[in-house]
Amino acid sequence: MNMSKLLLATRNKHKAEELQAMLNDLGLEVVTLDAYPQVGEILEDAGTIEGNALKKAKEVFGLIGVPAIADDTGLEVFYLNKAPGVYSSRYAGPDATYADNCRKLLGSMKGVPPRRRGAQFRCVLAFVAPGMAPILEEGICRGSITEEPHGEGGFGYDPVFLPDGYTQTFAEMLPDVKNTISHRSVALQKMKDTLKSHLKSL
Ligand code: IMP
Repeated sequence: MNMSKLLLATRNKHKAEELQAMLNDLGLEVVTLDAYPQVGEILEDAGTIEGNALKKAKEVFGLIGVPAIADDTGLEVFYLNKAPGVYSSRYAGPDATYADNCRKLLGSMKGVPPRRRGAQFRCVLAFVAPGMAPILEEGICRGSITEEPHGEGGFGYDPVFLPDGYTQTFAEMLPDVKNTISHRSVALQKMKDTLKSHLKSL
């Protein structure tokens, strides 16, 4: 595989920063969709996290022709039968803010005892490049849903997600700490290992 540039199929500043920080040792030019304003909104309507990641990577690669990585993530809360899952960004409605979604989640979990508040972030990364089958990698970070929001950092459900083995929510911890344990970093580490072996076989 001949590759000098990698396109991250996202405009989410938080995600781009997390992913770019982790990819900078690959020796590739890593760009985001901000470099391609002509690419419009891609509908995440595949119905599964895997399907959405693959759809985004395929569409972006099809439009730009640069090897592309797309991610899709869901927060799966076991008490809620893995909701909000693929609907995580729109849990409280189509125009929901991060705060709206956290509020709705805490409402759904009101009175649920600590031992039943388990949850996981599940991230799927999809890589699409010419002349090869798409690659999918999954990353999971297990934790629990707090009773109140804590912390100002991060984004999304970070203030209400306490990763297992830690005393701070994702929103309270330093970004570097989140980046070493997050669902996205687990998926990306696997993807990097796979890509490195492909790059070697040039
Ligand atoms: P996306 O479709 O991958 O953008 O993720 C769907 C939703 O999951 C986002 O709108 C966020 O609310 C949430 N999400 C994804 N990654 C994270 C994270 O690292 N921390 C907190 N929430 C996240």
